[in-house]
Amino acid sequence: MAGDKGIYTKRDDGRKFDEIREMSAEVGIVDSADGSASFNTGHTKAIAVVRGPRTLHPQHMQNPRKGILRVSYGMMPFSVTDRIRPGPNRRSEEISKVTEWALNSVVDLSEYPNTVVDVFIQIPQADAGTRVAGINAAAIALAHAGIPMKEMVSAIGVGKIDKTLVVDLDKYEDSDFHDAEGSTDIPVAITSRTKNISLLQLDGKISVPEFKECVKNAKVACEEILKVQMQALKNIDGGNN
Ligand code: ADP
Repeated sequence: MAGDKGIYTKRDDGRKFDEIREMSAEVGIVDSADGSASFNTGHTKAIAVVRGPRTLHPQHMQNPRKGILRVSYGMMPFSVTDRIRPGPNRRSEEISKVTEWALNSVVDLSEYPNTVVDVFIQIPQADAGTRVAGINAAAIALAHAGIPMKEMVSAIGVGKIDKTLVVDLDKYEDSDFHDAEGSTDIPVAITSRTKNISLLQLDGKISVPEFKECVKNAKVACEEILKVQMQALKNIDGGNN
C-alpha cells in the first residue's frame, strides 16, 4: 500500500519490511534422481532435481580437468494465472545461466573429469523470487546428491518499493504499479562460510547507500534461509526419507 507521498507504508500481506515469507524445504522428493529438493517461500515453489555426474556427450564438450555443471530453469505452464508457453525463452535461459554461475562458485567437480552434473529447476507456482527459490532448492539437491561442495549457497530477493527497503518481494511488490518511484528488485545469493556474493542482479533504480543496505539485509535473510536448508538436509540424515 502506497501512502500519500508515495511511501510504501504497509506490505500487502502484512509482513514487516525485512520479513521473509514463510519458508519450507524438503529433500528427496524424486526417488529416481541422484539428488532432489523443494524450496518454498510464500506462494513461490521451486523444485530441483540433480542427475550425475555422468559422462558428457558430445565428447568435445568434455573438460579433462573437471566436471561441468549444467542448469536448466523453467516455469511450468500452470505456474502463473496466464499460461506460460512451454520450452526455453530468453528469461529462462538467462536465469539458467546466472543460477549456474551462482552454484558453480560452491561446487567442486575436480574429482569428476569429463562428466556433467545436470540440475533441473522447475517452478510449479510463481509469485516472484523464483530464481532465488530455485537456487535454494538446487543447493540442497546438490548436497543430497553427494556432489562435493566447498560450502552452501542461499539466495533472496531484496529491493526497494517507492522509498522503502524491503526483503523478499512478492509479485505484487515486484510489479511496476507503485505510485512514486516504482520497485527495484535485487536477487542476491550468498555463500554460507566465506559470505561471498555468488549472484547479484539489479532491476530498477537505487542509490549507493540504499544498495549497500539492501546487501546487508540480504546477508541477514540468507542466514535464515541457510537454517531452513540445513534442517531439510538433517531431516533426511535422520532417516525421515
Ligand atoms: P523472479 O521470479 O526470479 O523474481 P522475474 O523478476 O523475471 O523473476 O519475475 C517475477 C515474477 O513475475 C515471477 O516470479 C512470476 O510470478 C512472474 N512472471 C514471470 N514471467 C512471467 C510470465 N511469462 N507470465 C506471467 N508471469 C510471469
